[in-house]
Amino acid sequence: MSLEKKSQELTPQRIHAMREQAASAARNAYAPYSNFFVGAAVLLENGHLVTGCNVENASFRLTTCAEQSAIARAVIEHGAHIRVVAVAIANADATVACQPCGACRQTIAEFAEGACRIFYPGEKGEPGECTLADLLPASFTAASLQ
Ligand SMILES: [Zn+2]
Repeated sequence: MSLEKKSQELTPQRIHAMREQAASAARNAYAPYSNFFVGAAVLLENGHLVTGCNVENASFRLTTCAEQSAIARAVIEHGAHIRVVAVAIANADATVACQPCGACRQTIAEFAEGACRIFYPGEKGEPGECTLADLLPASFTAASLQ
């Protein structure tokens, strides 16, 4: 197995670490309006893990979600050709379900395949898991533009 493949292997320990990193990022969230503190950890094909948190704004529609800030940061740190293989999401209230919103699903789809794994707090906070294709079965893609 190549080093790159091994570094992206999603063992239970790796998934747990991703959830922990997302929870840690949530502690830095700027959410004075919703008080909903969200963190995300994005695993790239190159094995790097990049985190983000939500950053709200008094002009509500300018708010940036945790998944979006993590992906923007991944592009900044690793370049435009990143590929996302998994995303973990966490929020400060461990009893609230938190899947990516519609906009984040589309943002993830820009850099991921349908098999990209999504880890999130499910109902009552228990660990949930699905794929991007489960969340966004007919995403708008560059192929849609041709
Ligand atoms: Zn979102």
